[in-house]
Amino acid sequence: MVECLVMVPPGVNAHSYEPRPLQMSLLSKAKAYFAIGLEFEGPWLPKFSALAPNMKIVRTDSGIVKIAVPADVAHDVEKPESENAAEGHHDHGGLDPHIWLSPQLVKLQASSIEHGLEEIDAAHAGVFRNNLASFMREIDTLEQQLRTILPCDSATRAGARGRKAFLVFHPTWGYFARDFCLTQISIEVEGKEPSPRSMKEILDMAAKFRIGTVFTQPEFSRKSAEVIAHELHASVLDADALAYDWKNNLLSVAARIAAQ
Ligand code: ZN
Repeated sequence: MVECLVMVPPGVNAHSYEPRPLQMSLLSKAKAYFAIGLEFEGPWLPKFSALAPNMKIVRTDSGIVKIAVPADVAHDVEKPESENAAEGHHDHGGLDPHIWLSPQLVKLQASSIEHGLEEIDAAHAGVFRNNLASFMREIDTLEQQLRTILPCDSATRAGARGRKAFLVFHPTWGYFARDFCLTQISIEVEGKEPSPRSMKEILDMAAKFRIGTVFTQPEFSRKSAEVIAHELHASVLDADALAYDWKNNLLSVAARIAAQ
């Protein structure tokens, strides 16, 4: 029996999260913390360890080769980098942290989590291993279902009906796009609303790819997404990156991307 508490509650920006005092006191009683490699954890993990020296920190992104944050048209290239970094309250540090939207990467995370659980509770290693094996089978089924919805030839990186693009406010879907031969265009620039110039580039790109849907996420602003959707005569739909029902959410987002 493992009691699992979630650090980042629903509806908040996970990148800039600050643990609450109550969470810090609960952490002091925890056996393990499962880190995912989000920016906020950088300065906080040493504080967690200082507070709970016996707590094991399991890095669930261990062994995962991360891709660069997509530097697509949406990024304001004229600004010097230092200026962006100073202003950006949401600096991804160059590497894309949104690993949990790729089923294959979640397999690696699940293995790391299982190893961590064995270390804190060796008596139940058999249970953890069985659960991991059945979760891996669920992920394989999910992957097959997703490939049916979004067919993709990984050799040529072309979808069955050409390469499909989708427009999102926050660039959460980089690994998902890579896995399923999609092009992710993001509206947000360095964690901020786009400048008028970026806005124009996004509109041009969206028109080129015949974007019919603009995806928003519950924890981010809908304002510029709605402006862009209006310009494109496109509809606005949610693509939640942090949905509790991870599997069905990936399936429904895939279906929305395929249908646009
Ligand atoms: Zn994010």
